[in-house]
Amino acid sequence: MAGSAGTSNGFQQAVRQVKEHRQGKSEAMQEAKKEQDGRRETNMQVIWAPWRMGYVSQERKGGCFLCRKAAETEDEENLILARWEKCFALLNTFPYNNGHLLIAPYRHVGEYEELEEAEVLGIGEGLKRVLRAEKAVLRPDGFNVGLNLGEAAGAGAPEHLHVHVVPRWSADTNFMPVLAATKVIPQHLEETWKALRQALAR
Ligand SMILES: [Zn+2]
Repeated sequence: MAGSAGTSNGFQQAVRQVKEHRQGKSEAMQEAKKEQDGRRETNMQVIWAPWRMGYVSQERKGGCFLCRKAAETEDEENLILARWEKCFALLNTFPYNNGHLLIAPYRHVGEYEELEEAEVLGIGEGLKRVLRAEKAVLRPDGFNVGLNLGEAAGAGAPEHLHVHVVPRWSADTNFMPVLAATKVIPQHLEETWKALRQALAR
């Protein structure tokens, strides 16, 4: 399938979408542009396979991107969807799929077993809420929900754990890394952010 016309077309669409993304005016988009520029020398897979690449360049920039975004007040630019007592949810800047989001405790903790009971409960409750919102807004056929703990497991920010929530549709594929280079994210991040944020506020 790698050489088929459909795949090639999909690849071109993905390239175009990344270019459009780079033309974004917001600070978040500018930030994403800088991050993507740093990765340009590698390949498309880097941009679209967050499970593998994570947030390498954000880490390099210094500081923890989750702590920084939680501390800032620009929720729209930071794509923060909801803030709860012990944790918050935000869209992944480098989504595998439309609606790919993260739930993280406010506390800078890398090991799951270091979480306090209230944080575990908060993350569990947050997960229920985002699943409900994603079902209402995006109508996926299923979800991948999981933690990448440690760099060896693919965590881009191993010192600050976060739960990945990736909505799935029957038409997409389980071959994340293989199709990552050709994946087209159908909605822009901002549109998805607005719809999900609204659903979570209900
Ligand atoms: Zn942190």
